[in-house]
Amino acid sequence: MTENLSPGRPALETIAASHGVASDTAFGAVTPPLYMSSTYTFEGYDQPRAHDYGRSGNPSRDLLADALAKLEGGAGAVITSSGMAAIDLLLGQFGPDDLVLAPHDCYGGTYRLLNARAERRQFQVVFVDQSNDRALDAALEDVPALVLIETPSNPLMRIVDIAAIAAKAKSAGAAVAVDNTFLSPALQRPLTLGADYVIHSTTKYLNGHSDVIGGAIIAADPAQVEVLRKWANVVGSIGAPFDAWLTLRGLRTLFPRIERQQLTATVIANHLEHHAAVARVHYPGLKSHPGHTIARRQQRGYGAMLSFELVGGVEAVRRFISHVRMFTLAESLGGVESLVAHPATMTHADMGDEARRIAGISDGLLRLSVGLEDERDLIAGLDLGLSAC
Ligand SMILES: *Cc1c(COP(=O)(O)O)cnc(C)c1O
Repeated sequence: MTENLSPGRPALETIAASHGVASDTAFGAVTPPLYMSSTYTFEGYDQPRAHDYGRSGNPSRDLLADALAKLEGGAGAVITSSGMAAIDLLLGQFGPDDLVLAPHDCYGGTYRLLNARAERRQFQVVFVDQSNDRALDAALEDVPALVLIETPSNPLMRIVDIAAIAAKAKSAGAAVAVDNTFLSPALQRPLTLGADYVIHSTTKYLNGHSDVIGGAIIAADPAQVEVLRKWANVVGSIGAPFDAWLTLRGLRTLFPRIERQQLTATVIANHLEHHAAVARVHYPGLKSHPGHTIARRQQRGYGAMLSFELVGGVEAVRRFISHVRMFTLAESLGGVESLVAHPATMTHADMGDEARRIAGISDGLLRLSVGLEDERDLIAGLDLGLSAC
């Protein structure tokens, strides 16, 4: 029997749930097998098969790459050992004369990577508030080679208009990459909005179970896919087969997970917005959010990440953390379990005080990743923390 293909062009939900299902020709396994082998037999003299060595290709990893490329609407994908490795694979394409234009409030690890590489003169970097048209236009006059976008941003959930920035960047001659980790292709598809690359930390929503570190980069242009594939083999930043297999298993439930998680996140955001201990809530689904209109247009939902500021500042944070229940104090996001993080001392500690101040990340800010627990339990757990503030 051949692969159980959908009769028409499958919906994204179908791709996530079933890409590669029943495609095993050896034993007819319904679930795609895990291939751990590091090397592959040649059929004979000068006759390699589809795979020869595990750094250059692996069937389990390739299956995940194909699934993600289809979900994002790209020509292909490269699966890397982490989200940072995916970003670094892209950055490796640029040279000392190239300028990278990055968001001023990007993921802390991305900020650290960009600065570390720029300090070694591997390229130049400038950080800009991309929601500020004047600042963005001025930065584009310096002819960047790459514009990196992150929306919603971490941890303030700022929204930028991907289509508008991509159009401007294109006319300035820059390539455009979007870090889509916070929403996943279930809720946002940047390639359809004009981006050239999509980057993921598959560690987050795509795997969704907080048991794998992994990354992916998807390109719109087949030639760019080949270049990235070649470089992943050259530098060896590829993901492990078992990690790819687990991530594909996690991907099966991406849509129902994130849809349920964002429903609960909406309830929590509304609850927090009306709580006396909370000064501000940052959730794109709230009408009060400055990016709400753009988010409604460019996203299929508002996601399950939010952050909020406590009236009592850092002292209130301390009390909240020791009394909150249901939300585990940990970095990372996108898993089935709810987490709370304090960006100033955790995810964004390496940024330094000044850069955090410019990015608007206060010491009283807390970030939530909303999981799959019942919303009543989550709100009861939050209220224990809030009433201690
Ligand atoms: C976690 C994260 C990364 C880095 O991914 P790792 O898998 O931890 O290397 C990059 N961008 C965003 C937005 C992230 O949340």
